[in-house]
Parts: sequence; C-alpha cells; structure tokens
Amino acid sequence: GRNCFQFFSKQTSDRLEKEHAMCHALHSVLKNGNKDNQLCLQYQPLLNIKSGDTTECEALLRWKNHKGESIPADEFIPLAEKTNLIEKLNLFVIDEACKQQSIWQQSKNINMRININLSGNKIIFSKLLKRFIENVNHYNLNPNLFGIELTERTIHEVSKDTIKDLEQMREKGVKISIDDFGTGYSSLSYLKKLPITTLKIDKEFIVGLPDDKADHALVKAIITLGHSLNLDVVAEGVETYEQFAFLKKYSCDIAQGFYYHRPLPGNKISYLQLAA
Ligand code: C2E
Ligand code: CA
Ligand code: CA
Ligand code: CA
Repeated sequence: GRNCFQFFSKQTSDRLEKEHAMCHALHSVLKNGNKDNQLCLQYQPLLNIKSGDTTECEALLRWKNHKGESIPADEFIPLAEKTNLIEKLNLFVIDEACKQQSIWQQSKNINMRININLSGNKIIFSKLLKRFIENVNHYNLNPNLFGIELTERTIHEVSKDTIKDLEQMREKGVKISIDDFGTGYSSLSYLKKLPITTLKIDKEFIVGLPDDKADHALVKAIITLGHSLNLDVVAEGVETYEQFAFLKKYSCDIAQGFYYHRPLPGNKISYLQLAA
C-alpha cells in the first residue's frame, strides 16, 4: 500500500504468529493477576569471591504457560519490551521480590539482598521506582536489602528526574548495577552521571576464560576499570572452576553462575544460609 512493498516469507509470518500468540497469552496472565501462578521468580545466589559469603541474589522471572511449557526469559521479555506489557511485568517482579524479602526478614535467618532487573522506557521507569519505594515502605523493609540492575539500553531512557530518584535510593543503600556491561551500544559517560555501585560483566566475556585471549584481556580491563571507579565487579555466567580461579586471581568481587548455584525458588534459599 501507499507505494510501498513488503515481502513476507513463510518463516517471518510463522515467527510473527508465534510472537503474537505469546503476547496474547502473557497479556491474559497479567490481566488475571497471575491467578494460576504461571509467572514466578527464582533467585540465583551470588558468591562473594574473597569472603566466601552469599549475601545477595538476583531475581529472575520464570513463565510456565497454560500448556505447562516453560518459555525462556530471553524470549518473552524482549517481546514484552516491544509492547506495553513490560510495565505490568516489571511491576509484578517488584511486588513479588518485595513480598519475598518480607518473608525472609520475618524468618529471621535469611539476610540476602535481592537484585531486581528493571527495563523499559522513560515513563515506565519512573513508575517502577515509585512502586518499588511504595513496596519497601509497605513491608517496612530496609532499602539496603535491594539492588536494581539496569542495562545500557535502559540507561538511555533515564531522565534527569529519575537520576535524582536513583541518587536518593543509593543513599538509602540500594545497589545500582549496570547489567550486561560492555554489550550495549553505549558511551561510557553514564558512568559519571549515574550513581552506580556495580558493574556486571556479561557471560559472553566469561565463557572463553581463561584461554581466549580477547576475553582474558577484556575481563581484566573491566575489573580494573570498575575498581578504579570504586565499583564492585560481578561476573555472570561462571560455569567452571577454571573461570572462577581466573576471576579470583584478578580480584573480581562477586561470581554468579552455575558453578556456584542455579536459580532457586524463594522457599529453597534458606538451607543455603543455614549451611554457610
Ligand atoms: P541477565 O539479567 O543477564 O540474567 C542472567 C541470565 O543468565 C539468567 O538467564 C540466568 O539464569 C542465566 N545464568 C546464570 N548463571 C548462568 C551460567 O552459569 N551459565 C549460563 N549459560 N547462564 C547462566 P534467564 O533467567 O533466562 O534470563 C535471561 C534474561 O532475561 C536476563 O539476563 C534478563 O535480561 C532478562 N530477565 C530475567 N528476569 C527478568 C526480570 O524479572 N525483569 C526483567 N526486566 N528482565 C529479566
Ligand atoms: Ca540481570
Ligand atoms: Ca546480566
Ligand atoms: Ca547477560
């Protein structure tokens, strides 16, 4: 139409159909308030390399659809980001993570910071921070029991007002991490502008350790960069002892990955700390 042509292959239309069905299904789950618990969070413990302690974890979203199929987060989250579903999804995650933290605090023997992934555009983002603060107040939680993870993509969407909100949160002890550091198309100037506490090295750079020369050089350089800016450095996707040993040798602060632990349901976290 309008003097334009578009070519659709069978493959493209199959993919679009699948995406459409996925959006529709996700939309109904959120509209029903997740009544049948299709969505839930799992928590992946992080290991402090120097002390050997586990004082924090990352909340990761899981979706089992009405047919009982698990849909990978890498598939449905980018899709939700393309539509307005991401706002509701993020709000769900914030509510759940705060509820879980409140349960852990009441149980008295779990003291684990929860790091929450937040994504979205300018408008969504300020709503998310509001909701987070409301929740922390509602459950009467110390904000230092939380961290937020932002990708370089989301950082582009952060307005001046939001930077102020982030600064206030950081003053109250909320950790602010740059997720998937080094994979976004981004200049490094945000490292000066935002109240960041932590760099998370993407697993893409960890996978080739310790042999791959480029990964070796990049990871060493990111650790040095982070430390010279007074930031903690987390390596994600650590799967082997050799990777772990490399990170320890170069003074990376925290390791996350299957080598230490897979993500667990919130009620399975307790034994970890009791065993520590
Ligand atoms: P991410 O934030 O980089 O999260 C780390 C991903 O690496 C998780 O995948 C985790 O399960 C996986 N992982 C952890 N250790 C290892 C390991 O040793 N080896 C390998 N190969 N993978 C490991 P997951 O849960 O599938 O999540 C994928 C992405 O989806 C996340 O990447 C994040 O970008 C997004 N995501 C997940 N949960 C949420 C959420 O609640 N909100 C938002 N906005 N995004 C989320
Ligand atoms: Ca993350
Ligand atoms: Ca990450
Ligand atoms: Ca990643």
